Amino acid sequence: QSKTKGRNTISFFHQSIQEAADARMFLEKELRSAIENQDFILYYQPQTDRFGRLSGSEALIRWEHGQKGLIAPDQFIPVAEEAGLIVPLGIWVFRESCAQMRKWLDNGLDIQHISINVSSKQFRQQDFVDQIAEAIRQYEVPASRFVIELTEGVVIDNIDDTVKKMRALKHLGVKISIDDFGTGYSSLTYLKQLPLDELKIDKSFVRDITTDFNDAIIIETIINMAHNLGIDVIAEGVETEAQKDFLYNKGCRVFQGYYFSRPMTSADFEVWVRKGER
Ligand code: C2E
Ligand code: MG
Ligand code: MG
Ligand code: MG
Repeated sequence: QSKTKGRNTISFFHQSIQEAADARMFLEKELRSAIENQDFILYYQPQTDRFGRLSGSEALIRWEHGQKGLIAPDQFIPVAEEAGLIVPLGIWVFRESCAQMRKWLDNGLDIQHISINVSSKQFRQQDFVDQIAEAIRQYEVPASRFVIELTEGVVIDNIDDTVKKMRALKHLGVKISIDDFGTGYSSLTYLKQLPLDELKIDKSFVRDITTDFNDAIIIETIINMAHNLGIDVIAEGVETEAQKDFLYNKGCRVFQGYYFSRPMTSADFEVWVRKGER
């Protein structure tokens, strides 16, 4: 009896692994054709001062799936990275952002910048900076209207290549931000070598800022360190007035989060911006 049970357990185990592998293959296949068909959309989330006045925006990708509706990036970006699809996808994101900025400028909408998330594999491409330069040239948009967001892990992974590429980006006029700051383990020694414009405090610290003494200390330390290095600070994941006030009192001047607005389609974003202009 136990033998039978054992055999069943094993075959069940194999079956579930097989199912997971099949599902994964299917997702990869779907993703591949979605990239060919450009079934993606960029949402834009405002970055503001404490009064909610616009100071920039972040582009956040969603997959417009025929059957499943909108799919969040956490559900497919990791797969795209592993399958090597992040490179064409990342190029689409940057080009789409350039096209959007061109439209905004043509329509007299002064969106200071679009921040763009760049994955490790994309940043490590030899022609990464050339791709950026080419899109900027083609869409005739000022490079200063774009911020490249990299995570700490990406930056310290190959510091020589990072420094080289960051300098080339700076030379173009593109700005550089470190996303999810505080969750990695980059040291001050590394940071001061890099031509950074901005540190983005991770939302995990912001969440408990008013109740967790350690998070409050970490945030205060990040803000002071950044300012001493001449780097701007933005806090992400700001959901409440209390969080915003706390951050402001610690010296943070730029905010992004549901308290001000969720990410929106470009059409809704434009309405939101025009409302603020009145
Ligand atoms: P991220 O770059 O750290 O972006 C911030 C995430 O926090 C976004 O999730 C945003 O919608 C969400 N968020 C904003 N305000 C709040 C808030 O007040 N509370 C909470 N709980 N969340 C907030 P989203 O759009 O699901 O994106 C998740 C991640 O996917 C991004 O994290 C980024 O790492 C990645 N991602 C998004 N778009 C792209 C892209 O175009 N390329 C690449 N490579 N990665 C992307
Ligand atoms: Mg980001
Ligand atoms: Mg982040
Ligand atoms: Mg993140």
